[in-house]
Amino acid sequence: MSFEIAERDLAGRAGVLLTRRGEVETPCLMPVINPVKNLIPPRELKDNFGFKMIITNSYLILKHFGDKAPDVHELVGYDGAIMTDSGAYQLLIYGGVETDPHEIVKFQERIGSDIGVILDTPTGGFASRIEAEKTVEETIRRAKLSLEWREDPTMLWAGPIQGGRYLDLIRKSARTMGRLDFQTHPLGSPVQIMEGYDYSTLVDMIVAAKLNLPPDRPLHLFGAGHPMMLAMAVALGCDLFDSAAYALFAKDDRYLTVRGTFRLDRLTELPCNCPMCSRYDQKGLLEMPKKEREEILARHNLYVTASEMRAIRQALKEGSLWELVEARSRAHPKLYEAYKRLGKYAKYIEENDPVIGKEVRGIFIYDRHSLVRPEVIRHRERVIKNYSRPPGKEIGVFIPSPPERPYIRSKEYQDATETLAGQEFHICFYGEPFGVVPSELSETFPLSQYECSQGTGMNVAKDLRKFIAANSYRKVFIIDPRSLMVIEGATTLRSIDEVRGHLD
Ligand SMILES: [Zn+2]
Repeated sequence: MSFEIAERDLAGRAGVLLTRRGEVETPCLMPVINPVKNLIPPRELKDNFGFKMIITNSYLILKHFGDKAPDVHELVGYDGAIMTDSGAYQLLIYGGVETDPHEIVKFQERIGSDIGVILDTPTGGFASRIEAEKTVEETIRRAKLSLEWREDPTMLWAGPIQGGRYLDLIRKSARTMGRLDFQTHPLGSPVQIMEGYDYSTLVDMIVAAKLNLPPDRPLHLFGAGHPMMLAMAVALGCDLFDSAAYALFAKDDRYLTVRGTFRLDRLTELPCNCPMCSRYDQKGLLEMPKKEREEILARHNLYVTASEMRAIRQALKEGSLWELVEARSRAHPKLYEAYKRLGKYAKYIEENDPVIGKEVRGIFIYDRHSLVRPEVIRHRERVIKNYSRPPGKEIGVFIPSPPERPYIRSKEYQDATETLAGQEFHICFYGEPFGVVPSELSETFPLSQYECSQGTGMNVAKDLRKFIAANSYRKVFIIDPRSLMVIEGATTLRSIDEVRGHLD
């Protein structure tokens, strides 16, 4: 076992990837480094920025050094875990590479890479269906051969999942690659899809892969590293990321933030607290020689990325990843669209989300899109399907959820129990966001530990109707000061005091 999952939130996992260079905490982002020249010395990535693993390109090393290539850690000056890519990306962009699947597997072993990638055939974001099918088949063929060629049992191998935007091909690719002896699985092709801001398709692609892979293997979202989208990818179950964005964007005078990317000449302030932004201002940066500015921007971009990874791990451990995803999704309308897409996968997320052990803080409900989060759908579903009222309590009395928490300490509940003293009354609460909450459950997390912005548009009457139908009360009273709740088989009253008058 090379991957251990320690904690979960939504479909996200916090875990440890065991490499021969030590443990790497996940979710983890690997900065992409050039094997030959770097603005920022790779050792600094670990010592100053906290990146415990980096990725470089074995194909470029092969081309540059050939048989004389030294150990990759020595070559780039980094003593942590190093993953090496295989040249497949060059194959996608330039249409060909001067190596073959066998040579690059042996070469990665020889230079001491900790995680190698087979030379797969990437589908890309624009492939036709026939082309996409071919890339999937060829990647599988090469994967089987590559696993036979490998000799070093301490090295981990990544088996890429192809299929591009064709979800059935991703499913097939994931199922087949998942049966082979790989330790991680990169999901190919997101770069071109993300360049078009098509985050909704990315959500579909990630879930298609996840549902068909063994759950104990890390999923690596290839080439995805913009800080604004990392939280969502983690929430869907991605564990590893790699990105050259920090350097590519810096070269282009672009400044990364969790709220999106900004061109340096359009900023008047540097809205960040990192050592770079504390030392320089926007005007000073623009007046600097290009190379110097590029390095400072790259450092800022790395700080922002590292800080977002820490924020994600913290949110995951405290059970507030949903809130983080929701906040980040406001960075771009297309990202917000992808956030809304999570509703389509509410069941997948709920099934992966831990039921207990997250009672660290209450949950926040903002609008109808928050209603698909696991805690909400889980309660609404279970209280209808798996719950039955306590025996003997044959008169159901439904009162609006009071503002006070837990509900059973509220004045409304005290009044109701005093007015209706008797064994036969079953008092339940109704309202956003949980629908019906029987009083005896109201202290269960998170039924009283939440904040909800009213007006989510939730159809509470529908939950009431189902709950009442499922519990065969002798009599049912709905207390509704505005008398708007009309439900068959129930009497709607304006106040609890009217109940007595209706008992015959
Ligand atoms: Zn900064």
